[in-house]
Amino acid sequence: MKKGLLIVISGPSAVGKDTILRRLLEMDPKLRYSVSATTRPPRPGEIDGANYTFVTREQFQRLVEEGSFLEHAEYAGNLYGTLGDRVAQAREAGYDIVLKIDVQGAEQVRQKIPDGVFIFVVPPSMQELERRQTMRDSEAAEARAARRKIAEQEMAYSKHFDHIVVNDDVDRAAEEMFKIIQNARERQT
Ligand code: 5GP
Repeated sequence: MKKGLLIVISGPSAVGKDTILRRLLEMDPKLRYSVSATTRPPRPGEIDGANYTFVTREQFQRLVEEGSFLEHAEYAGNLYGTLGDRVAQAREAGYDIVLKIDVQGAEQVRQKIPDGVFIFVVPPSMQELERRQTMRDSEAAEARAARRKIAEQEMAYSKHFDHIVVNDDVDRAAEEMFKIIQNARERQT
């Protein structure tokens, strides 16, 4: 069986990656989402094992020492990492696997798996991004300020990505990603 593709989706916080990804996963049954481990506390409605595997700092540190992560990074004071086995198993089973990770993680993945498909999601404007970030009222103003600063740095990274998708409309953006993935599949055969 053909090994699955590795697809990396990155972009500033609150740009709408989760919503696009949900739509994309509905559209494309061959895609699997790689659930990351994080030390961030769950937001209301988030489910352990589905959105993230929520771990303590000690557990995360142990996973780092055991070499369990394909990549890991600190983001706004919390640790996030992709579990290498999950990715490898899905790909071996022929599934194309999607990682939704920050730019530091994307860079680490590119070093290890240069033939991955790297997609960066941008907002229609920085003002629109700020509006979306402010709507996330689950966080303290301080945490939001930290995310805004990171977002500006992240936007500068977009040029390292193979594909840039503007999230002006969720359905349109998901459709564009679907086409990017279909093209990568065709190139693979
Ligand atoms: P959030 O806390 O908003 O869910 O995620 C914050 C940032 O961490 C987002 O940019 C998200 O894509 C990124 N992120 C989520 N999981 C991982 C991961 O496993 N590795 C890395 N490097 N970043 C991640």
